[in-house]
Amino acid sequence: MAVQRTINEEAFSFYKYKDTDETHIFKGRFIPTGCTATQNSICNKLNRNSDDAVRIITCLNENEARTRAAQIGRGVCGICVSNLYTTYEK
Ligand SMILES: [Zn+2]
Repeated sequence: MAVQRTINEEAFSFYKYKDTDETHIFKGRFIPTGCTATQNSICNKLNRNSDDAVRIITCLNENEARTRAAQIGRGVCGICVSNLYTTYEK
């Protein structure tokens, strides 16, 4: 069964550099058809539309994104990860 999504809840997507496997996180919102994501990663280092970017997973909620980031571990960009634990908009 699909996980219930709250429309307009924050959504997180993960992309990595093809060459280095360095993973970055992109923020967006859940929409009826899936989710949006910004073109640039939270840290602004990776453009997900560039040829160097490989999609890992999209449309995770915050808890799922934290779990995923923990699984990937040190491969995830520190700036992007730290943003997952910052609750400046509530
Ligand atoms: Zn990053």
